[in-house]
Amino acid sequence: MGVDKIWVLVERADGKVPPAALELLTRARDLATTVEAVAWGPDVAAVAAELGAYGAAAVLDAGDPGDALVGAPVAGAIAAAVALGNGPDAVLIAATYDGRDIAGRLSARLDRPVITNVVGLEADGDGLLSEHGIFGGTQVATARFTGAGPALFVVRPKSFSAEPGGGSEGAPQVRPLPSGDLGSTNTAAIVAHHAEERTGPKLDEADVVVSGGRGLGSADAYAMIDELAKLLGGAPGASRAIVDAGWVPYAYQVGQTGKTVKPTVYLACGISGATQHMVGMKNAKNIIAVNKDQDAPIFTVADLGIVGDVHKVLPKLIEALKARS
Ligand SMILES: Cc1cc2nc3c(=O)[nH]c(=O)nc-3n(C[C@H](O)[C@H](O)[C@H](O)COP(=O)(O)OP(=O)(O)OC[C@H]3O[C@@H](n4cnc5c(N)ncnc54)[C@H](O)[C@@H]3O)c2cc1C
Repeated sequence: MGVDKIWVLVERADGKVPPAALELLTRARDLATTVEAVAWGPDVAAVAAELGAYGAAAVLDAGDPGDALVGAPVAGAIAAAVALGNGPDAVLIAATYDGRDIAGRLSARLDRPVITNVVGLEADGDGLLSEHGIFGGTQVATARFTGAGPALFVVRPKSFSAEPGGGSEGAPQVRPLPSGDLGSTNTAAIVAHHAEERTGPKLDEADVVVSGGRGLGSADAYAMIDELAKLLGGAPGASRAIVDAGWVPYAYQVGQTGKTVKPTVYLACGISGATQHMVGMKNAKNIIAVNKDQDAPIFTVADLGIVGDVHKVLPKLIEALKARS
């Protein structure tokens, strides 16, 4: 059964709709009678047809914050719509920096709790049941909102698959949301954008991910991970141990406090398989682990395990792949 209306927040990157928003629209279709997308920034109408193809019946334009941080204006616009009685039963927000910012402000504006780290959503009578990881991802808690007002969920990317469907013919209507009260908080401005340099696919969108951990032994040995990822047309990833050690940037981190990935193949090299790492990659279709310790926890989720030294196994793999191409 589910709820009457869900709003899905659509945070665009370079004007494009990221997979995380399409995943949420796809899931929302099965949980609500009406799904609407909330977008902001320049030319919202340009993505209306794509959002419609994933089930959005309308696109609500929260305005263009320009160089202001998006949290205050977007949360303000949604709160204003709720105050006018036009709000949804639930708001789904992808767990990104801006998404978390909007969620926190919205929670304060609406005086409603926000459930973060959501990895599952189901219809439950006329409401929604959410599943979210707690205690470092070692336990999954189930929650249901009570009381009046929208339920606010911050959902981890890759919790659902994105599939087009449920849309109507043509682009859905774009309607403006009312402008909200910005409060005294909207004093920060974005002064520069920095895109992390990258040649292959994005880590959380790649079909193949090759990750390295402390078992590599040194920052220099990470070059093997980079090379292997390139040869396989994939993205390099990392455990937190080597991010903390400064071997690779944080953007590479897979896991509870990093990115969630769901590739066709995940290759874990010299990674022990701590719960906090596995929570970010255990849903990969095929997991291959290379570890010299046959009792390493990573082997409990691996489809193929290689008990061996990364310094022997990875060069052989690289050599074989090079010979093939
Ligand atoms: C709140 C919290 C959040 C966290 N979030 C994350 C997160 O998002 N992502 C994350 O990854 N971690 C996270 N962690 C850290 C996590 O608990 C682990 O400490 C971390 O994942 C360990 O990284 P590792 O597997 O690279 O290192 P280790 O645990 O040290 O494992 C190294 C592995 O390499 C193997 N090895 C050693 N030498 C070789 C060799 N020559 N060849 C092959 N194998 C070898 C060893 O047998 C061992 O299994 C978090 C921790 C906390 C408390």
